[in-house]
Amino acid sequence: MARKFVIAGNWKMYKTVGESREFVEQLSGQFSAAEGLIVVVFPPFTSLAALHGLDPKVRIGAQNMYYEEKGAFTGEISPPMLQSLVEYVLVGHSERREIFHESDVEVNKKLLAALKFGLKPVLCVGETLPEREAGQTVEKVKNQLHKGLEGVPAADWERITVAYEPIWAIGTGRNATPGQAQEVHRHIAGRLREKAPGSPIPVLYGGSVKPENSLELLSQADISGVLVGGASLKVESFSAIIHSGLKLLSA
Ligand code: PEP
Repeated sequence: MARKFVIAGNWKMYKTVGESREFVEQLSGQFSAAEGLIVVVFPPFTSLAALHGLDPKVRIGAQNMYYEEKGAFTGEISPPMLQSLVEYVLVGHSERREIFHESDVEVNKKLLAALKFGLKPVLCVGETLPEREAGQTVEKVKNQLHKGLEGVPAADWERITVAYEPIWAIGTGRNATPGQAQEVHRHIAGRLREKAPGSPIPVLYGGSVKPENSLELLSQADISGVLVGGASLKVESFSAIIHSGLKLLSA
């Protein structure tokens, strides 16, 4: 099957509406659409409406979402509110899990709610440094996959993406080596094949991805894209990562 790459940028709590628009306008001129290339940016909620429809080759996602449809949940954003604005939504990013104490149960509710409202959830999983050092990486990730993906309707697997993001590699400048990443991706891909035979689920690597390491990471057999934090905030570095994907697609 022809390879596909998802190159995604998580902007976290950076960029005003004006900065977001300027970024996408500049990024648009840096690459051409290509078969198999999917570029997504995850701006803050406040920028979603401004970016909607700006450039069809730059898809838009939300960084988070609540699972209820509506109600007295001050400060939260619901799936129907996102439906007309975004294609993707991150669920269970490690910063949500660690800083805002989101549990696997809540992550699963968000994922199912995203699917119910036609969105494409990106389920983030990954281990802490102590878990890696204790040899618990695969167990931790498989457990998060098991709990996060519970109850997915058979017809909805094709809308799911998984992101493997070792927590010790996020925002630290210390990426997993391509070999370390591939090893975990191989386990994840195997588990996903058991859960959803016939629906190839993209598995992105995230954690200090930058132009210097993106080509080698994307070259790994079971890495189908990257979720980029810090290096997605500058047009120059994000477009260089997109070009790593393009290079491999045209090879
Ligand atoms: C992220 O926020 O998902 C991430 C991987 O961040 P960074 O690339 O900065 O490590």
